[in-house]
Amino acid sequence: MSIKKYIRKNILSLAPYSTARDEFQSDKKINSYLDANENPYNNGINRYPDPYQSELKQEICVLKGVKPERIFLGNGSDEAIDILFRVFCEPRVDNIITIKPSYGMYKVTAAINDIKCTEVALSEDFHLNINDIFSKIDENTKMVFLCSPNNPSGNLLKKSDILELIEKFDGIVVVDEAYIDFASDGGYREYLDKYENLVILQTFSKAWGMAGLRLGMAFANEDIIEVMTRVKYPYNINILAQSRALEEIRNNKEKIEAELSEVVQQREMVEAKMSEFSFITKIFPSDANFLLIECKMADELYKFLIDEGEILVRNRTNVPGCKNCLRITIGTPSENLDLLSKLKEYEKSIVY
Ligand SMILES: *Cc1c(COP(=O)(O)O)cnc(C)c1O
Repeated sequence: MSIKKYIRKNILSLAPYSTARDEFQSDKKINSYLDANENPYNNGINRYPDPYQSELKQEICVLKGVKPERIFLGNGSDEAIDILFRVFCEPRVDNIITIKPSYGMYKVTAAINDIKCTEVALSEDFHLNINDIFSKIDENTKMVFLCSPNNPSGNLLKKSDILELIEKFDGIVVVDEAYIDFASDGGYREYLDKYENLVILQTFSKAWGMAGLRLGMAFANEDIIEVMTRVKYPYNINILAQSRALEEIRNNKEKIEAELSEVVQQREMVEAKMSEFSFITKIFPSDANFLLIECKMADELYKFLIDEGEILVRNRTNVPGCKNCLRITIGTPSENLDLLSKLKEYEKSIVY
């Protein structure tokens, strides 16, 4: 495998923990499981979960059109991010590149793993400065983290930029697609056949309404997935999470799709109404379930929404490239109407 050269030596030679159920792989019928020191009385959670999450991966394969061998499941995408660092980056030697503004976990996880993280600024309209990124890459750069649709800006990055990076960068390109279900584009799963240095992150936390369950996905070629699986904790996805996710995918796909199209419709409605307010100076185009708005006095509006509306949004004014910006999640139709009426009140209260 040619991705071998990117993997840390200690990880390549790792002999993973072997679970009780690993050591007995057979179709023979078993009545009594006396091999794992579990409590024998069935309460639904007395047995260890499937460390390979085979049933769930099969269902995700159908849902996403990605083979089970190309799926890694983690305790949120955050686990997948951490595992990627541990697989590819030698502490204090290697480095990664990410973009700013973007999701904060890439930088935090780099710091935890003692990996230098270089943040390359996006352009004013939040697209990649591809030449700046190439100029920061050196021989120890192992990964480039991208996020599309990007958080907090909401926009899809340009496909031609991302593909150029995947083709030219001699390392791993991670594309975080946490918000892809809300987007007008299908993302990069179709490129997994073509590029073995591509890793895609997705999650059940946003569109699928399971943030509390903690279930994230990484899609990549089977060699990368095999190594990531070796590094994870054997039982990283608990029995309740596996069974509830299966249930949601099998029974609630149509409900989720209806919610998704409503959120997108509501986003367009909120965007249209917001554009009428004079104190909102810019609404950035969004392919996600939130809007980034630039306003005249972000701190003041943020506080007004809490004090007068009991509405909490995300104040991003101190984030590079987001001066005077608030990030507002699309809520239920009634929450959105409430937000708009509070914005109207705010407009009336402004003293010029
Ligand atoms: C919300 C979000 C995630 C989801 O993380 P989980 O750990 O799966 O909940 C991942 N990436 C981005 C950019 C996000 O905004």
